[in-house]
Amino acid sequence: MNLKDKIRVISDFPEPGIRFKDITTLLQDGAAFRSAIDQMAAFARQQNADLIAGPEARGFVLAAPVAYSMGVGFIPIRKSGKLPGETVSVSYQLEYGKDKLEIHRDAIQPGQRVVIADDLLATGGTVSSTIKLVEELGGIVAGLAFMIELTYLSGREKLKNYEVFSLVQY
Ligand code: 5GP
Repeated sequence: MNLKDKIRVISDFPEPGIRFKDITTLLQDGAAFRSAIDQMAAFARQQNADLIAGPEARGFVLAAPVAYSMGVGFIPIRKSGKLPGETVSVSYQLEYGKDKLEIHRDAIQPGQRVVIADDLLATGGTVSSTIKLVEELGGIVAGLAFMIELTYLSGREKLKNYEVFSLVQY
């Protein structure tokens, strides 16, 4: 199955000049969704992941079913103020201003192998922040799995020390 055909590209969203990769059209196709999750889970299995972490919101949609299919735990990475327990946070740069990502302090035990899953790798900023959180807790980042990689933004170069897997490239 060609997963790229299932992704809809929408021009000028969320701003003029951006060609947004809309994964909702892939998610609504049962066979395509299953194929994508199966392939991401195969990668995570190869990396011997103990846990799958995903940043909200689209990362949840992929990381949780990958974790379920492997029978390992899912760790939510959230925007600031959403997690109820004690958290560790990292600030990251937005186009305008800053935001924070957080993880529960007790979500990962030192030495556990964590695969991070998200829908799309662009500049690599979001995943770099997620890596910092996992490593701050003593987790080993065993791999990074994306549905889409925008190769022209060279996010992969920022992630040289990690195993990067993507299903579809633009
Ligand atoms: P980065 O931090 O690598 O520059 O951007 C990746 C993050 O932005 C991901 O969490 C992803 O959800 C979001 N993102 C940026 N552009 C797109 C896009 O065209 N389509 C989708 N689905 N997400 C995007």
